[in-house]
Amino acid sequence: MPDILTENAFDADIDIDCLVIGGGAAGMTAALAANDRGLSVLVAEREDRLSGSTALSSGLIPAAETLAQKRQDILDSKEIFFADIMAKNKNMADAKHVKLCIEQVTKAIDWLEVEHDIPFKVLDSFLYPSHSSYRMHAVPETTGAALIQRLENAANQRKILISCNLKITDLVRTNNNKIIGSKGIRPDGKEETVRARSVILACNGYGGNPELIEKHIPEMSDALYFGHSGNQGEALLWGEKLDCKLVDLTGYQGHGSVAHPHGILITWGLMMEGGIQVNVEGKRFSNEHEGYSEQAVKVLAQPEQVAFNIFDERLLEIGREFEDFRNAETAKAIIPADSIKELSDKLDLPFQNISETFEYCKDQAEKGAPDKFGRVFSLEKLLKPPFFAVKVTGTLFHTQGGLAIDEKARVIKNDGSVIQGLFACGGAVCGVSGPDVSGYLSGNGLLTAIGLGYLAGHEA
Ligand SMILES: Cc1cc2nc3c(=O)[nH]c(=O)nc-3n(C[C@H](O)[C@H](O)[C@H](O)COP(=O)(O)OP(=O)(O)OC[C@H]3O[C@@H](n4cnc5c(N)ncnc54)[C@H](O)[C@@H]3O)c2cc1C
Repeated sequence: MPDILTENAFDADIDIDCLVIGGGAAGMTAALAANDRGLSVLVAEREDRLSGSTALSSGLIPAAETLAQKRQDILDSKEIFFADIMAKNKNMADAKHVKLCIEQVTKAIDWLEVEHDIPFKVLDSFLYPSHSSYRMHAVPETTGAALIQRLENAANQRKILISCNLKITDLVRTNNNKIIGSKGIRPDGKEETVRARSVILACNGYGGNPELIEKHIPEMSDALYFGHSGNQGEALLWGEKLDCKLVDLTGYQGHGSVAHPHGILITWGLMMEGGIQVNVEGKRFSNEHEGYSEQAVKVLAQPEQVAFNIFDERLLEIGREFEDFRNAETAKAIIPADSIKELSDKLDLPFQNISETFEYCKDQAEKGAPDKFGRVFSLEKLLKPPFFAVKVTGTLFHTQGGLAIDEKARVIKNDGSVIQGLFACGGAVCGVSGPDVSGYLSGNGLLTAIGLGYLAGHEA
């Protein structure tokens, strides 16, 4: 059980300015920012290599008014971005915290480009649900794995110490509650202590800890967890012991489009550009444009807890822009069908129902009005044969609740005071999605990882 040790005479194996716990996007961004300020930095990562949920992700970071947006002549503003986030979370997230994240992520993306040679492009082939502008930034490879690799390369160039296979078990504090280091354990059981003038918690949330999910997000306790297994909730558990303010622990990112049983993410761009989702009865059951996060719950509520994404050749090309999708094709998860009849035969969907579904979408497109779920279909994006389909299920991607921080990324206690020496960023921190799955706007995860990682590293 992660603990807090109180030790005034603390003889440590390593002495460093800044200890970063966790080597995902948040931790690596924080490490680079702290190093830029001349601090000696150690990143402790429990796994044998850097990965985290970051490497599993699509690596898309939302930001407004960046150099990359300007290069691509994309009109956007931080104000519009703020309005999009707040509309999605129904004004349930702390506006000040949201503004902080938005400010920081713009600085962070530009700084990573200019100072650390990490180039970004903005995806502009489709709009993500509820975003008013193209603002998803990606490294050229458009994968989270490449993002983490590029952050690691930048850290290696600066000779930042990265210690893998070091799981931090306990934080160490003085009698007057200042955090001064940590105790960790190696896979062979050897203990290792680190003394640090500041400690940054970048160890993400509690998605990989079934007990914490059962406690805080019971609706997803049976769902497949699709994030990194190293995210066991230490930040939350240490936070509880330190009497920290913990916010929106019921919030999370789900996803209603993971190929089943292959376990491969299928981009939601297909839905945004005309695709539909039907259940095993061949019926639509939702407005696919509301967002992929809440769609996880809706798909899990269907018979057999699955759905089929149906799309066409035009959308196939959009899908192929993503490595995950190409992997799904290689794994034969994508099923082609020349007609509605073949679709019904191959997917075992009642022909009459699936025909009626197609007919209904066409009627709605002709009317141009919102359908019974609130989605507006457009005639030019109506699906045309040949069709393609993939069976999907709903999953838990990551938790959005966590530690409250102030404008300097310092961890705040329930009484409003800050804990000296302790900073937090990324999934360890309360996000910008509010307390409900429907509050997650695409990119809210890496927004707090990159944006707050930058802030924590600067302030630590
Ligand atoms: C499939 C998938 C796709 C996604 N796509 C996107 C996307 O496109 N855009 C977006 O914004 N978000 C996306 N997300 C969410 C995003 O991946 C996360 O919000 C983000 O990566 C969090 O970054 P982080 O650095 O806080 O955590 P992580 O990247 O998970 O890093 C945390 C690290 O801390 C380590 N750690 C934990 N505890 C300890 C300990 N005690 N000691 C040492 N190390 C420890 C872990 O092993 C891990 O490596 C996606 C998530 C998934 C699962």
